[in-house]
Amino acid sequence: MHTDLVAALDIGGTKIAGALVDHQGRILARTQRPTPAQENGETVMGAVEAVLAELTASELWPRAGAVGIGSAGPVDRSAGTVSPVNVPGWRAFPLVERVRSATGGLPVELVGDGVAITAAEHWQGAARGHDNALCMVVSTGVGGGLILNGELHPGPTGNSGHIGHISVDLDGDPCPCGARGCVERIASGPNIARRALADGWRPGPDGDTTAAAVATAARAGDPVAAASFARAAQALAAGIAATATLVEVDIAVIGGGVAKAGDVLFDPLRRALRDYATLSFVQRLTVVPASTGTDAGLVGAAAAALRGGSTVDEARRQAV
Ligand SMILES: [Zn+2]
Repeated sequence: MHTDLVAALDIGGTKIAGALVDHQGRILARTQRPTPAQENGETVMGAVEAVLAELTASELWPRAGAVGIGSAGPVDRSAGTVSPVNVPGWRAFPLVERVRSATGGLPVELVGDGVAITAAEHWQGAARGHDNALCMVVSTGVGGGLILNGELHPGPTGNSGHIGHISVDLDGDPCPCGARGCVERIASGPNIARRALADGWRPGPDGDTTAAAVATAARAGDPVAAASFARAAQALAAGIAATATLVEVDIAVIGGGVAKAGDVLFDPLRRALRDYATLSFVQRLTVVPASTGTDAGLVGAAAAALRGGSTVDEARRQAV
């Protein structure tokens, strides 16, 4: 049997998605369950197993040669465990071992969700063709991942490129991670909204106080709303410039709900980058919106599986 597919799992705080994906990144079968995020660890695992049961029942399943998992973090790729902040029942939960036994012993590759999105953007999105890239998700939190020398760089634990918790404000506000002035503490959607409200922005009649509502107000000319996005842009620019200076990425790709603000975010971000990315070798750094859609987590998990094990290399050889 040619194993020309991989199984992909995208595990987040609200949903668990699964798919069978071919070597061109096409999704041939898919399923999804809500994440019982506040339940105990076995109940959450039960939802993962329900997703896997649907995949393994597919007539395509015998063609699957590996499993890729992109999970909310932190993850520990070397230990095969996950401890997602938003899933308290899972702390150092042995997800890789459990998924391996639920799939008849297939090789399993685990990465953080930011690394998975990065794999997807490099394979099919805005980072395609770039050998050195930083990809980010800016939404409720801020995550990211790195492509270095043409390869996904997950790092030993699968969290490399987690730009949200780089400090860009030495004496800044305490961050839930324990540090101060992290990119996420300034640039995440909830923090954009919180700062706008604190500085006097008021929502419209619908009472919407999300970052999307702040973006709408900024676009309509509200200076407080625009200033909150400019501050987020400044934090992102400082983090991106630091990353580019360290490892010479030439493109930063930004996805997630906050990136949907468009020019309200990207205009001040590109201006701020000129202030922070100053050395000759980082001046050609560009910043663009992500282009993979809602399936990025699944496609990225599949990409991680494809780059993972020898079984997949064997599958590729067989497929030739
Ligand atoms: Zn932090």
